Amino acid sequence: MSPQHKVTRPVRQTRTGRGTVAPKSICVTGGAGFLGSHLCARLISEGHRVTSIDNFHTGRPANVAALARSNRFEMVEHDVIDTLPERLPAFDEIYNLACPASPVHYQSDPVRTALICAEGAVNVLRRAERDGAKVMHASTSEVYGDPEIHPQREDYCGNVNTVGPRSCYDEGKRFAETLFTDFARQSGVVVKIVRIFNTYGPRMQPDDGRVVSNFILQALRGDDITVYGQGEQTRSFCYVDDLIEGFVRLMVSGPEVDGPVNIGNPAEITVGELARIIIEMTGSSSKIVHLPLPVDDPRRRRPDITRARTLLGWGPQVPLTEGLEKTIRYFAGINQTQGQPLGHAPVFAPAAQSGSTVHI
Ligand code: NAD
Ligand code: UDP
Repeated sequence: MSPQHKVTRPVRQTRTGRGTVAPKSICVTGGAGFLGSHLCARLISEGHRVTSIDNFHTGRPANVAALARSNRFEMVEHDVIDTLPERLPAFDEIYNLACPASPVHYQSDPVRTALICAEGAVNVLRRAERDGAKVMHASTSEVYGDPEIHPQREDYCGNVNTVGPRSCYDEGKRFAETLFTDFARQSGVVVKIVRIFNTYGPRMQPDDGRVVSNFILQALRGDDITVYGQGEQTRSFCYVDDLIEGFVRLMVSGPEVDGPVNIGNPAEITVGELARIIIEMTGSSSKIVHLPLPVDDPRRRRPDITRARTLLGWGPQVPLTEGLEKTIRYFAGINQTQGQPLGHAPVFAPAAQSGSTVHI
């Protein structure tokens, strides 16, 4: 990418006379991650100027390599625990996604995870206040912990262990919701909170230990499929494109959409059933083995999406088998080249200084 492509110029949001939305200057923290890279792609495709801020803790430059061809995309290496770089353009919107998301990753440095949730939120909110930007925070179904109410509605306050191995993430995300809400009350910054339920699709990190990526990779390699516990715990899996549509609808929603909104696919299945479906779809010879259930693993999870349906007109469109087919195809590409996605040669050029543009 040539340096002139990296000139940053603020583009303010304006509605055109024909009812279309003019290009906006949008920041995505965590833009090199699984969800962030899909969100950046969607926003670029709509003609916006996108700045992705990421420290590549769990994300990869390869995830946004295709976007680097656009002169409306900038990848900035920066840790959101630190104040967002001054030099960046004024933003109209900020999506705050930066945070390790899989249990394996967020538990590997729990103190840091909790701090990313808290300090990252404060830095994003201060920047939003300075720029007059609208901000959307990526929260999670983990705020419900191991829920006693099923399915989970947004007014359920949750059942969360404050001192378990998942607490750094669950309580960090709960605290971030509080910060976002109070900051909005005190400063007038317009804030949206999305509670994301388990989402899957291409560009999930192969090493992050989440169930969909683990089972697909194990099935493709003919390894044992590692079902934790008896596999009777449930999850409700949403395909990434559906989730991103929900993000965008929530961001542009008006003041009537106040408070957290669940976005997820209410189709609930057991983990054991998921293993069987993936074995069948991949034609794998893998066998299911049972390993101990992790501490505080939620037993059931399913979103009540009434608010998303009525307030945003949103509902999932992609059935599980269709989404899994696309995800299996993606991981099959990675598998054949032992870690390098087919067609993407990731060139990692670590920036010397925090806040620098990364040329991909
Ligand atoms: P991911 O790990 O693929 O992406 C997270 C991104 O944030 C990575 O690119 C990572 O490098 C970046 N990051 C982490 N710490 C950072 C820091 N201190 N400074 C700058 N960048 C940092 O995870 P994901 O699945 O894409 O999740 C994105 C967001 O959505 C997270 O906030 C997560 O909590 C939330 N979420 C995801 C799911 C899901 O099913 N994928 C479910 C609930 C909530
Ligand atoms: N899980 C499993 N085998 C794996 C990975 C995960 O049985 O190899 C289970 C895990 O115990 C949990 C469910 O699958 O019950 C979803 O796990 P994931 O880490 O994907 O997400 P989360 O627990 O955050 O919902």
